[in-house]
Amino acid sequence: MSQGSLFIISAPSGAGKTSLVGKLVAQRAQLEVSVSHTTRPMRNGEENGVHYHFVSKEMFEAEIGEANFLEHAEVFGNYYGTSQKVVEDKLAEGIDIILEIDWQGAEQVRKLVPAAISIFIVPPSLGELRNRLTGRGQDSEEVIARRLSEAQLEMSHYCEFDYLVVNDDFDTALSQLDAIFEANRLKIDYQKEAQQTLLTDLLNK
Ligand code: 5GP
Repeated sequence: MSQGSLFIISAPSGAGKTSLVGKLVAQRAQLEVSVSHTTRPMRNGEENGVHYHFVSKEMFEAEIGEANFLEHAEVFGNYYGTSQKVVEDKLAEGIDIILEIDWQGAEQVRKLVPAAISIFIVPPSLGELRNRLTGRGQDSEEVIARRLSEAQLEMSHYCEFDYLVVNDDFDTALSQLDAIFEANRLKIDYQKEAQQTLLTDLLNK
């Protein structure tokens, strides 16, 4: 069986990455999102083991010590990391894996897995990004201003990615993302297996 492919998806906060990825995974077969470890507090509506594995700083540092992370980074003052074993096991099962990580994690994964396919998602304008960050209604003005400048820092790394998707109209962005995953599954290595019977038949003398 062919190995699954590793995808990295990064975006500034407010670009709609998580909604797009959620929809994409729901509509495509053989595709899963890696559940990261984080030391940040759980937000309303989040579930341990579903959105993140919420762990203490001590536990996270112990995992770093045991070299359990494929990548890890400090983002907005909290640690985030991707479990290496879970990702490797899923890829070996032929499942495509999405890492929803920041640019620092993307940089580390690219070095370790040069075949990883990376996608950057941006909002349609700075004004819209501001609206989306404000629209969450959970944060103060000061927090929103800080998030906006953090978003711009994240966006300054767009050039390091293979693909760029603008999330203006949700369905358009979703179909553009889907096209990237579809094209990858049409590569010869996958098609050789998926179309084995047809290809054998077509070459039959
Ligand atoms: P949030 O706390 O809002 O869910 O995520 C904050 C940032 O951390 C986002 O940019 C997200 O992509 C990034 N992030 C989430 N999980 C990981 C991870 O496992 N590794 C890295 N490097 N970044 C992550």
